[in-house]
Amino acid sequence: MKRLAIIGCPVSHSLSPQMHNYISERMGLDYGYEAIEVLPKDLGNAVMHLKEEGYSGYNVTAPHKFEVMQYLDEISGDAKIYGAVNTVVNRDGKLYGYNTDAEGFYRSLLHSGINPQNMDILILGAGGAAQPVTMRLSNVAKSVTVSNRTAEKSKKIAENTKAYNGFFVETEITRKSYDLIINCTTLGMESSIDKTPLADLSLVGGSVVDMIYNPSETTLLKECKNIGAKTVNGLGMLIYQGILAYELFTGVELPGFMADELFKIIDN
Ligand code: NAP
Repeated sequence: MKRLAIIGCPVSHSLSPQMHNYISERMGLDYGYEAIEVLPKDLGNAVMHLKEEGYSGYNVTAPHKFEVMQYLDEISGDAKIYGAVNTVVNRDGKLYGYNTDAEGFYRSLLHSGINPQNMDILILGAGGAAQPVTMRLSNVAKSVTVSNRTAEKSKKIAENTKAYNGFFVETEITRKSYDLIINCTTLGMESSIDKTPLADLSLVGGSVVDMIYNPSETTLLKECKNIGAKTVNGLGMLIYQGILAYELFTGVELPGFMADELFKIIDN
């Protein structure tokens, strides 16, 4: 059996093993996928160990998405631009780094019936997940505003996006409302379950997407649903970044129905 994994810290609650093992079983491919907890100080050794052990590839989650890049042989254009790797593929002993988060997020929007083309988009938060998503959406949106508690970080994303494709990212909320609001903060997760990153609900002008999928409906999504917004949680992003990673690991193109099946098995 070929081996795949996810490395991170913490990683024990990751849904990726369930998802990838389901895909392998469904496709009749002989891959096993496990979660491996790697402390930041052990990252270099872990990368070496996984290579020696012959792992075909692994996903990389917080806090290693940036640090892992220094240990890889080649990094894809997207991952370089986004400054983060979430997928490592071992091809004949050479390690290749990719980023499937941004494209995974984009595909999850389309899957939910949200086409961000020409939309006014508000992104809440400017951490590791916000930058790739901002850059990806800047290719299609009418406007993108990134609002963050720490203003320097949203300004940095605006600078990086400008350097990437010349798109002007706004860093102040100046519009009356937004077609699409995306929560890229950690507010609403278990430790802050009753909190919401959006104080002013009048800004909601259409759809609201939360990157968080546990809980499946955050306080933000509940409040926005109550005022009639279309709401979507982060499960789709998890599923689509995983599908894209699996295709990179194995070189096998997965059938279109796989996403729907994953929604069913992970929801249950
Ligand atoms: P991160 O790098 O740690 O960034 C956290 C962000 O949350 C920062 O912008 C931070 O603001 C903000 N924040 C934290 N506490 C806050 C508070 N009390 N008030 C206001 N803002 C606060 O995290 P990340 O990696 O970008 O992840 C962000 C979220 O996306 C997490 O919930 C993560 O689970 C989720 N995510 C989901 C998927 C998926 O597949 N669905 C993938 C990746 C990430 P400051 O800059 O001011 O600290």
